Amino acid sequence: AVSDDSLRPVTLIPGDGIGPEIADSVKRIFAAAKVPIRWDTIDVTPVRDPVTGKNKLPERLFESMRESGIGLKGPLATPIGKGHISLNLTLRRAFNLYANVRPCRSVDGYKTLYDGVDIVIIRENTEGEYSGIEHEVTRGVVQSIKLITRDASRRVCEYAFQYAHDNNRKSVTVVHKANIMKMSDGLFLEQAREVAKNWPHIEFRECLLDRACLNVIQDPSQFDVLVMPNLYGDIMSDMCAGLIGGLGLTPSGNQGKDGAIFEAVHGTAPDIAGKDLANPTALLLSSVMMLRHMKLEDYANRVENAILSTIAEGQVITGDLGGKAKCSEFTNAICAKLEQA
Ligand code: ATP
Ligand code: MG
Repeated sequence: AVSDDSLRPVTLIPGDGIGPEIADSVKRIFAAAKVPIRWDTIDVTPVRDPVTGKNKLPERLFESMRESGIGLKGPLATPIGKGHISLNLTLRRAFNLYANVRPCRSVDGYKTLYDGVDIVIIRENTEGEYSGIEHEVTRGVVQSIKLITRDASRRVCEYAFQYAHDNNRKSVTVVHKANIMKMSDGLFLEQAREVAKNWPHIEFRECLLDRACLNVIQDPSQFDVLVMPNLYGDIMSDMCAGLIGGLGLTPSGNQGKDGAIFEAVHGTAPDIAGKDLANPTALLLSSVMMLRHMKLEDYANRVENAILSTIAEGQVITGDLGGKAKCSEFTNAICAKLEQA
């Protein structure tokens, strides 16, 4: 038997609502596939800072992430009420998660208006319209600052090309509005152009945001990897999730300076929590992205094939996909495939 120490640690944040159920599904499937990692499970119930009164993340989470550098996270409930910034945003800041990656790939067995979609949105995740700098200039006039820096633009563009290279993608398209926002988007675009020069084997394209939206809806196959500033990425990534069947199937990853965190994009789904009805696919596919990030390519492929073929066969699928299976039954079906292989 392998000793526990030879297994790479991964920080697991099951989260709230359906989080524990779908996290359990991932754990069982990884065990069936004998993935060589060990989970360090952390309950991220917000702790109130006695001094500032704000919610903060438990210290154990930082210790665990410092050791593992890799996290898998279920959905977190944002406490309602004034002065609560979402824990997701807190996490993003705490771990300097600068690039958000959302692959949108058609799932066989789940029919949408589009077939064969295979797009990856890479969103700058730290600045732009989300700088949080807003003020009232005078009564009835407010100003919101869109902050764009060369360093953050360059970092996310470099990440996009590296991602394209690592994942054998053909092209990177920068999406912008530099015709209107000449300085801010202009700087982002300029950085994309400069970075592109270092990657001559990857086709580089530029597209205005409005045109990109139009073209994605007309024919998604024109696009491969797209990189863009924060707000545009927020909108386009949900739009592209719609092409493949919604947020329940879309995985995502966040690359940070000192580590990476992978997560499902859906929420806590309180309406079905605790009923064994949730579809764990989004978190499962996020865990597959995580395995690729950890260079555990063979395990990633095996787990991914087991998930996707179970859905494609259509016998044991959850209610949101039109089936009758419980989360645990869907998980069992995937485990059975992995164990017989
Ligand atoms: P939150 O406040 O955490 O965002 P929410 O009420 O907005 O929660 P979402 O999780 O965003 O709920 O989900 C919206 C709808 O989609 C709900 O009806 C929920 O049941 C459904 N849903 C979301 N995720 C899943 C899933 N993994 N499997 C099945 N249904 C889901
Ligand atoms: Mg929601």
